Amino acid sequence: MKLILNKENNFNRKVSIIGSGFVGASIAYALMLKGIAREIILVDAKKTSSLGEVLDIKHGIPYMGSAKIISGDYSDTQNSDLIIITAGRNRRPNEDRLSLASDNIKIVQNVIENLTPFYTRGVIMIVTNPVDIITKKVIEWTKLPKGYVFGTGCLLDSSRFTAKLSDFLKINTEVITAHVIGEHGKTQIPLWSKVVISGMPIDEYCSLMNILFTNVEKEQIATEVREMGTKIISYKDKTHYGIATAVCYLADAILNGRSTIASVSSISDGEFGITDVAISIPSVVGANGVERIIVERIDEEEFTALRESADYLKEFLQRINGKEEGNGIY
Ligand code: NAD
Repeated sequence: MKLILNKENNFNRKVSIIGSGFVGASIAYALMLKGIAREIILVDAKKTSSLGEVLDIKHGIPYMGSAKIISGDYSDTQNSDLIIITAGRNRRPNEDRLSLASDNIKIVQNVIENLTPFYTRGVIMIVTNPVDIITKKVIEWTKLPKGYVFGTGCLLDSSRFTAKLSDFLKINTEVITAHVIGEHGKTQIPLWSKVVISGMPIDEYCSLMNILFTNVEKEQIATEVREMGTKIISYKDKTHYGIATAVCYLADAILNGRSTIASVSSISDGEFGITDVAISIPSVVGANGVERIIVERIDEEEFTALRESADYLKEFLQRINGKEEGNGIY
């Protein structure tokens, strides 16, 4: 893929969503309600699926929203400022995210091949699971400038972590800053050393407010956050509202010049001693995607766990790559 920047493709808050299943359609709906995009294109291998979603969403516009929304082909994605990839199948109950890899790699490879002839510019955000693996693959296939392709990674986990802390502390999420780092999956790490409540470290806040907060409470919160996706899937077979609003938050940063800091998945170039793997670390996200990975002082234990999470993803990638060459063990 090549970046082509000229007068004709000026910044116009155009978003293309590839895959209009539960996640893609929920993202389109949330973007519409929040007025974040000016134009939304839905593309799906099953044309009637995107057409049906567009008609449904469009019929709410008289009451709320103003964006132009169409069901399109890949040619309609030209000059998008943001391309969001959600195509792929979902996890089955009790299925690990990583076991989805083979099927979804093939689907997303097909999506990238179809997108490439029409790509001019725009950040590519990967949502399809296993998001860290797919993100790494898309970065390899597209060869776009660093940061232009990234995955939502632990963005949703961070949001769940914040929501859990809000319930535990009985305080609004707005005053809580909390990130989950590492793999979007079982080896994720809640970044306890950096959790702040209105700027105050959480231990200090809890002791001031007489809230019992020991390793037992920490472990319970961490487990619930880690298992949340599995729990929701066991109840309703899918998760889509949470990720849709989290994606909207990033879309706003990218499309409307509201740069933010979020724990998203991009290639580490030696940050925390990690290379050659897409993994979530708090990063500055703005018009050019991931603009900078933030290297801050974290606890020794968190540092070790982050390295282990990266090793786990690397090893999995090796197995997947081996399988593609016909001699893998996965
Ligand atoms: P879904 O089955 O409802 O939708 C997937 C859509 O992709 C379908 O409409 C299908 O027709 C389409 N599709 C399949 N192959 C395609 C192709 N080659 N080109 C274009 N479209 C194609 O699934 P969903 O619930 O919307 O989930 C989508 C993905 O998002 C899954 O991989 C799921 O695991 C992932 N997800 C990620 C997060 C996260 O935090 N990263 C959260 C929730 C879901």
